[in-house]
Amino acid sequence: MIARRTTLKALAAGLALGFAMATPMAQAQDKGLVGVSMPTKSSTRWISDGNSMVSALQAKGYKADLQYADDDIPNQLAQIENMITKGVKVLVIAAIDGTTLSNALQKAADKGVKVVSYDRLIVGSKNVDYYATFDNFQVGVLQAQSLEKALGLKEGKGPFNIELFGGSADDNNAFFFYDGAMSVLKPYIDKGKLVVQSKQLGMTKVSTLRWDGAVAQARMENLLSAYYGKVKVHAVLSPYDGLSIGILSALKGVGYGSGGQPMPFVSGQDAEVPSVKSIIRGEQYSTVFKDTRELAKVTAGMVDAMLSGKKVEINDTKTYNNKVKVVPSYLLKPVSVDKSNYKAVLVDSGYIKEEQLK
Ligand code: BGC
Repeated sequence: MIARRTTLKALAAGLALGFAMATPMAQAQDKGLVGVSMPTKSSTRWISDGNSMVSALQAKGYKADLQYADDDIPNQLAQIENMITKGVKVLVIAAIDGTTLSNALQKAADKGVKVVSYDRLIVGSKNVDYYATFDNFQVGVLQAQSLEKALGLKEGKGPFNIELFGGSADDNNAFFFYDGAMSVLKPYIDKGKLVVQSKQLGMTKVSTLRWDGAVAQARMENLLSAYYGKVKVHAVLSPYDGLSIGILSALKGVGYGSGGQPMPFVSGQDAEVPSVKSIIRGEQYSTVFKDTRELAKVTAGMVDAMLSGKKVEINDTKTYNNKVKVVPSYLLKPVSVDKSNYKAVLVDSGYIKEEQLK
């Protein structure tokens, strides 16, 4: 019995060994360590990004060192330096502040560590090899087009009152989102079909530091008390779901969405679960879905191509000038989501499970 068990065990071990040696996975396990530096866990999108990055790298045979920096710049810098010390071959970085990483990236370059800017462009450094992201201008276009459709602006309806929110001014993406949105909204503002009662236009006036929902809520509360008494607000351009939630709280706080006072149309981004639930309830109007699983795949593909001396797949060599150089990029397509298509886009694709929305 004992002998038999030993033989079986040995057989199993041998099989496992043989199997391991025969599969590319086993060789792949040795392909090296990749550092993945993410900004924060306070938003579910970055959690999905981190998890997808780890699986996409593992599938290609790399080990991942995944770190979240709590939206704290010195923390992110320390984590990145630590990754360099640990001997990562590539750094994949979604920066909190895209302007603060130059010294760390120089250290990386000195050691031959490659850098992929993940979703957010790192600016002011030549040591950024590639950029994997979405078409960020198009994100803004989609946000504004959803408001255009909701208000019936194309059909000539209006004038309507709108307020504008921008993302964090230390994030290059925020400018692309705003500019994309304004490419749709500005002609209506010029014709008087959209009115910004506060006259707060431009990123210097409308940005929201660190994409903080509480900051957006406070600004919306101030706008409502200063400019909207009898006059009602009909739409709010919001660049990110976490801000939309704050904006909606401010609106609800003064009675919008109840007692015959309709909720203004509010846009968003990232298809985060609380916002999708809000869309289903008829509060937030829209969001923009960016499939972080695809972004992770593209990024892992870049990592692998760089390390194995293959051609890195890119589809844009013009748009993303980081003030030192144009960073070769791969841009994925964002998708507009509202109540009419959230099931098809988010649930059927497996991005969000039906039960998460209950
Ligand atoms: C990302 C957005 C996200 C925002 C806040 C941006 O850089 O592109 O998807 O909504 O950061 O986290």
